[in-house]
Amino acid sequence: MSELNLVLLGPPGSGKGTQGERLQEDFRLPYWATGDILRAAVRDGTELGQQAKEYMDRGDLVPDDVMVGVIAERISTTEAADGFILDGFPRTLPQAEALDGELDRLGRGLTAALLIDVPDDELVRRLSGRRTCVKAGHVFHVDFDPPKHEGICDIDGSRLIVRDDDKPEVIRNRLETYHEKTEPLIAHYDERGILRRIDGARTPDEVSDRIRATLATLRMEEEL
Ligand SMILES: [Zn+2]
Repeated sequence: MSELNLVLLGPPGSGKGTQGERLQEDFRLPYWATGDILRAAVRDGTELGQQAKEYMDRGDLVPDDVMVGVIAERISTTEAADGFILDGFPRTLPQAEALDGELDRLGRGLTAALLIDVPDDELVRRLSGRRTCVKAGHVFHVDFDPPKHEGICDIDGSRLIVRDDDKPEVIRNRLETYHEKTEPLIAHYDERGILRRIDGARTPDEVSDRIRATLATLRMEEEL
């Protein structure tokens, strides 16, 4: 079977993490969220891992070239022989270009960039429904996981509040930042013909089915 080298894209609240985990199970591919891959490189003590650690210890962002190097290290292992799923990187166009270059060098290429697309209004609805208990931080959701009594934590009976991060205007700002950074990235993958848009406004099961169907089609096209 051919390689499945995937990048997952999607706004906060799109269910991207859930879909990544399902893809990992379905296709037996390593699923790398940016934070995890960095922590693994640091733990394994690779040269790039040590470089990354210096930035992280200072509280600085790890530069793109180091990040791409860390990813390339992992892609070169047997773990990723059949492919990989990247989540959280690239986030910007320069990062995407750096990743393309590194994959070229390795004689690999992306099979697809899967964009889980959800309208902003739906994302705001999903994200602003979170309610957090003041005492211990237990989390509920008015639609998906409501408490038994409105405004009261099931576990310890304390008051539930909307945290600042979960306020609609704060969420809209986050989404605006996401769009600004991600649109050029989406255009880049679209131009290369590997962008696949998935309707993420559906249920998680429906979204999974769409992704599976999309990947099956890609593989069929490849075999033709
Ligand atoms: Zn609680």
